[in-house]
Formats: sequence, C-alpha cells, structure tokens
Amino acid sequence: MKQRDYTPLMSELAAAYAKHSPKSARLHEQALKYLISGGSHNLRLLQPFPPRIVSAQGAWLEDEDGHRILDFWQGHAGNILGHNPRVVTSALAKAFTNGYGLQTGFPDRLQVEAAEILCKQSGAERVRFTTSGTLSTMYAVTMARAFTERNLVLKIGGGWHGANPWTLKGVSYHQGFESVDNAGLPKTVTDKIIVTGFNNIDMLDDHFKKYGDKLACFILEPVIGAGGLMPATRQYVQAARKLTQQHNVLLIMDEVISGFRYRAGSVAQLYDVKPDLMCFGKAIGGGMPVAAVAGRADILDLVAVDRPNKVNFSGGTFSGHPASMLAAKTFMDHVVKNEKEIYSKLSETAIKTRQTVTKAFAEEGLYARFAGDRNNVLPGNSLHMLLFPREKDPQLITPEEIYNPAVCDITLSGKVLQLALLLENVFTVHGLCSTTTAHTDKDIQFLGQACRRTAKRIKPYL
Ligand code: PMP
Repeated sequence: MKQRDYTPLMSELAAAYAKHSPKSARLHEQALKYLISGGSHNLRLLQPFPPRIVSAQGAWLEDEDGHRILDFWQGHAGNILGHNPRVVTSALAKAFTNGYGLQTGFPDRLQVEAAEILCKQSGAERVRFTTSGTLSTMYAVTMARAFTERNLVLKIGGGWHGANPWTLKGVSYHQGFESVDNAGLPKTVTDKIIVTGFNNIDMLDDHFKKYGDKLACFILEPVIGAGGLMPATRQYVQAARKLTQQHNVLLIMDEVISGFRYRAGSVAQLYDVKPDLMCFGKAIGGGMPVAAVAGRADILDLVAVDRPNKVNFSGGTFSGHPASMLAAKTFMDHVVKNEKEIYSKLSETAIKTRQTVTKAFAEEGLYARFAGDRNNVLPGNSLHMLLFPREKDPQLITPEEIYNPAVCDITLSGKVLQLALLLENVFTVHGLCSTTTAHTDKDIQFLGQACRRTAKRIKPYL
C-alpha cells in the first residue's frame, strides 16, 4: 500500500507551532547545546521541540509560553490520579517540614509499610524495591536465570521492558519483530533472547515445544505498553501460565504499566493467574521514582544477605528512598482505601474518552479505533492507543497489526496527530496514552472539540 507523504503537513504544523510556542522554541535551542537532542528521554522530545512545562495539576499542564495544556501523557502513564495529587504532595510537604525525606541510606518504617501493601495487594510473598522499571525487569530476569540455571529468555515482539539488555530484542517493528534494538550488546546476550507473538497462542505453543526446557523465563506484559496499550486476552495469559508451569519456566509479569492501574494491585489477579515474579514501577510511586520486584519468596531469597553466590540485586543507592517510599505508601494506601470509587471512575472516564474521540473523527469522515478495543478483560481500559486503520474492521489485538503500515496509519496517529493536537493545547503520545481520575467530562469535551478541529486541519492532506 502506498504510504502518504506527510512532509508538507508536518512543515505547516511545525511553522504554526514555532509561532505558538516561542519560549519553548528558544529553550530548546539552549537545551541542544547541553543535552542530547535537548533532553533526557527521547519519547519526551517531540519534534521540532517539546513544550517546556512549568507547572502541572490534575489533568492540566502549563508551559513556558503560558498555554494550559490538557495532558494525556500523564508522567509516562504513571499518574493514575493526575499530576501532583494533593494526597501525595501534602504527605511529602509535611515530612519535609518535619525534616525527613531526603536520602539517608537507612531502612525505615515507610519501606516496611509500603512493602506490606504491595505484597498484600499483589499476592506476592516478598518484595524488593528499586528505582526504575528497567532495573526491576533486569533483576527479575537475572534472578530467573539464576534460579532455573537456564539461559534463554522468552519475550514478546513489541514488548518494552526498559533498556534491560535481556529484553532489547524485538522491541521495534521494522520488517517484523526480529531485530536487536540496541547497538553495543554482546551477541552472547541477544542470541539468548527468543521473541514470540502477543496474543498468539499457536506461536507460544511452538516456542515452548522448541525451547521449553531451555527457557529460564517468559517475561510478559499483561497489558502491553509501547506495543499497543492493550490487554492480552484471558486465554493467552492462562496459556502462558500453563505452558510455563509444564516446562518449569518462570512467568515474569511485567506490571510496570498495569500495576495499580486497573485495581489497587496487580492486574494478574484479574486474569486469575499467579505469576512467579512481578515487576512494578510507574504508578506505585505516586509520582516518585519507585519500582519493585515482587513474587515468590524462594526466588527473591536469591538476593538475601547471607546467600552464597547470590544475585546482586542491591537495588541501588536510592532504593527505598524516604520521600519515594512515603509517596508510594501514601498513594497505595489511598487507592486501596478508595478502590471502588477510583477504579470505576477511571474506567468510566476511559469509555467516555474513547467514544468522544472516535465520534469526533467519524463525524469528520475519519475511521479511528483504539488498539484492543474489543477486549473483554478490561473493558474500561484507561490506556489508549488511537489508530487509523486503513481497512474497516481489523482485529487490532497484536503489535504486528498495529505497527504494520499497511494495516494502520501509525504516522498519522503518532507524530502527525501529536503535533496537530498540541496546537489545540492537548498533549498526546501514541495517539493519546492515558486518562486519569483527574480528567473531567468537561476535559473530555475539550478533547473532542480539539479532535474535530484537528481532523478538519489534516483532512486536505489525506
Ligand atoms: N516495563 C514496562 C512495561 C514499561 O512500560 C517500562 C517503561 N515504559 C519499563 C518496563 C521501564 O521502566 P522505566 O522507564 O522506569 O525504566
């Protein structure tokens, strides 16, 4: 299928944006002198330059140019309650006023309390905290390899588990999900990574037939993030559990994106599956950098102080940081106590958002759908990847479909829409990204109107 050329539209949008945000433009020029591509995380570096944010509250941001921007990026989809929720900021402010919060390098009560909530809510026996999702998946895979004394790691095509060397294959779609996504890794590592298909039980079966007795672990996002912001089917997750058990392979659920988003705990429970290890990050920190590996005590015991040949899961200098643990404990405690209200609000808002957006585009003659929109495991999924399928009625349940330019116009829903919607003061990633409890009906109407105007603007170029 012939791909559309968006160069003229992107040039028009970029010129309009330069006028719209002159202060952010100037700051970007300065940033380029010191920071690679002008920042510290590539996904944040929207082209031609990102808005520089000065404040963030609830669903809204304010940038250097004084724009109020409705935000659906929400801290890399970590902010379930929106930006800077009072419940967390007031606990932090109080602690700092009382002289406790910065780094100490000591264990404290907060860590115990945060660990207790996380274990109880995820069904884990033990937990160890660290500071990023990348570290949590790296430690989990290393533990799995040590525990099973096997070499191979099975992962999903389109699965992103952070820049963990054991999972840097099959992340981005070029001709498929077969390539290594990182120069500089030894082949001895990347040869040990096997890539399988999300929601593809037949392929999973084949991979277990072929490699089952050599696999240390299968690392799986129950709700895939970068690969489509969509849930795995119940059958797929249950097949994964069955096959891993049959072959003595550890099932690692990467819940960095799904943990505490669909309920006050792991999403694994909604699939009626008990993984051996789980990785948490994003939401659990309540806005602070907290991640964790949680799961079976006999596996996590590999990192114990007195263990010979132990796995060196030190967690790092800042693991269990006081302010981070306070924020984590406060956030988790809050969502546990208000679980029903928070999670039903999240799914209601998600459903309204999707209806509003697809309707807005449909009224302008554009066929838009959300990845995984027909799943019945998480009907009110608050993670949203908007897509413009080229034909009516694709399934949209695998990263292979979504990233195949012949099936979906990923350039349109990605970089084109992002810049066009930013001109309407709406910030999106992957076509939208995430709704929170802070997004109101009025905000969603604002989004709908922005989508309508955007559709009118881009239509002449399609
Ligand atoms: N796992 C998943 C599923 C993720 O979505 C991410 C981050 N996007 C990571 C791991 C890595 O987490 P971090 O960025 O905190 O290192």
